[in-house]
Amino acid sequence: MFGKRIFMFVALVLGLTLSAPQAQAKQDILFGGASIVGVYYQVALQISSIMNNNMGDKYNYIGRPTGGSVFNINALERGAFDFGVAQSDRNWQAYNGAAEWEGRPIKSLRSLFSMHPETVMLVARKDTGIENVEDIKGKRVNIGNPGSGQRGNAMDVLRIYGIDPNNDFRAEGLQHHEAARALVDRNIDAFFYTIGNPSAAIEEPATSVDIRMVHINAPGIKEMVEEKPYYIMTTIPAGTYRGVDEDIETYAVTATVVSDEKVDEQVVYDMVKTVFENLDTLRASHASFRNLNVEEMLQGLSAPLHPGAERYYKEQGWM
Ligand code: GLU
Repeated sequence: MFGKRIFMFVALVLGLTLSAPQAQAKQDILFGGASIVGVYYQVALQISSIMNNNMGDKYNYIGRPTGGSVFNINALERGAFDFGVAQSDRNWQAYNGAAEWEGRPIKSLRSLFSMHPETVMLVARKDTGIENVEDIKGKRVNIGNPGSGQRGNAMDVLRIYGIDPNNDFRAEGLQHHEAARALVDRNIDAFFYTIGNPSAAIEEPATSVDIRMVHINAPGIKEMVEEKPYYIMTTIPAGTYRGVDEDIETYAVTATVVSDEKVDEQVVYDMVKTVFENLDTLRASHASFRNLNVEEMLQGLSAPLHPGAERYYKEQGWM
């Protein structure tokens, strides 16, 4: 008797469950940026907002702050994120097994499109007297946290200028929001940062203290730029930041949106298509994005294209 009741109850519940209309579950998509004060975090947030506004019935995009380029590339490989932002030089190194990835290339890394250019910068507080890269000897300088892209750029600059990070100055490994604060609080004298312009990450400390930006243009830098396809020499125009009244010569990389071969082709197709269909919205969302254009966004991609991106670019006749 009791057994029969249980059976009827179970049958009833099952029947109700099976006949109830199923709410379509949204797919969570995680997009890795970098420091909260940087431009990468804005890439992650702005693309997430475009996706949620246009395809919110299918996806739930979440932009996350992270340690930066190196962290993002490694997290994509582990499957912890679906998309991330990374410097073009770091993509090349990861895919080809150089620098941090020596002997351990990440062959599953995939490119989607390029974003804004980023300049390698050394920013000092003016009262430290730092006017050239060599002047950091004996000072306290942030070279970037280990997951960041800029740490590798800082190490290249130090090597080319013959400065030993273990003996010639006190190197700090802070995330950028900590470094900007530490510069203002006089806990560090200068920081390296590789970032798009103009950025709040430099504007903010520049409004609190007088800063000086240092040229990074030694012959050795120019030789490296000649050799590597992902570097170009550039200038940061005078007046970009408060107190920097001359053009600063340095070199630049490109911020790139990347993914992993594991990420579903349709997910990547939907993202790439929606971004290009809403390029005006993306351009207007941050000062560093205002010059984005299709032609340049398809250049400088050092890992192979993800098939989802390739499908859209072919449909558009862009390749
Ligand atoms: N280029 C930096 C990195 O790769 C991040 C810059 C930013 O947050 O905009 O870690």
